[in-house]
Amino acid sequence: MKKRVLSGIRATGRLHLGNYLGAIKGMLALQDDPTYETIYMVADLHAVTTPYKVEELRVNRREVIIDYLAAGLDPEKSILFQQADVSEHAELAFYFSSVMTIARMQHLPTFKEKVKQYPDAATMALLNYPILMSADILVYKAGLVPVGIDQEPHLEISREIARKMNQEYGMDFPEPQRFKTPGEYVPSLTGEGKMSKSVEGSFITLVDDLATIKAKLSKAPTDSGKGDIAQATGGVKALLSFVELFQGADRRKAYEAAYKNEGIRYGDLKHDLAEAIYKELQPIQEKRKAFESDPSRVDQIIAEGSKRARVIAAQTVAEVKEKMGLA
Ligand code: AMP
Repeated sequence: MKKRVLSGIRATGRLHLGNYLGAIKGMLALQDDPTYETIYMVADLHAVTTPYKVEELRVNRREVIIDYLAAGLDPEKSILFQQADVSEHAELAFYFSSVMTIARMQHLPTFKEKVKQYPDAATMALLNYPILMSADILVYKAGLVPVGIDQEPHLEISREIARKMNQEYGMDFPEPQRFKTPGEYVPSLTGEGKMSKSVEGSFITLVDDLATIKAKLSKAPTDSGKGDIAQATGGVKALLSFVELFQGADRRKAYEAAYKNEGIRYGDLKHDLAEAIYKELQPIQEKRKAFESDPSRVDQIIAEGSKRARVIAAQTVAEVKEKMGLA
């Protein structure tokens, strides 16, 4: 049997370069490897774990599917679907919640960060986020998960749940591992922390045109352009990471050498970097237009994807219910 792969992105807005480099690049690489069966969802249930607007979610859960298709995920090779259409995810998350303690979940750094961000919305859904993510993965018995490094604490939870379910109920869940990409941590354009949808000014989206990319890069903080590169921090560090990711390691080394000698001209660096980023995004934007103009094709892909996903998910849930004494 082929090894299964699961990944997903929350339906909280337009995808950015962090999602693209940290998750989608890995999703694409595994989709094109015939030894894997790849299952990719839009995490719309996860989108309700923090405050959201109903009408925006309705749009976003479909837009992420279009972003997937535009980026090259292929319904002939991968199962593409929306999480809420396969109710087994939520059902399995409930069974999993019976083997995890409140203390363990409250201890997670990702939970604490979100509580700080939304102090009035520390809901049970938020506390359950990693349990639902574990159900997303294990409902397909997937062993490999292409996601960014920020998801590692959640994958640890999924491994703990797999072990507990295997020990206590004799299940055969794999312990999921992260599939890493070179862009597993994409920094924020502000020079502080990671690129994130929730931080204004931190991201470039997959639909940004060249002028927008240039404008966003122009705001990234820089320094005098000269000195000891070992101390490069903040905006400069972020810019050099983008250079490496979009223009290659040699170009980065050349800038580092320039930094110690004649100095970096950031205007030129940002100009060339914007062109390189746009060159990668342009074909994705072209493909997006084609799918936008064919909504019935998108509907058909979504319907077929959830049908295929449900067949696998239902088998796992039936097995868990039987082993837990619920059937
Ligand atoms: P989210 O938007 O939180 O649902 O994240 C969707 C996927 O994108 C996950 O695999 C994340 O790990 C990945 N991701 C989000 N932001 C970044 C980033 N700044 N660098 C690398 N990967 C990221």
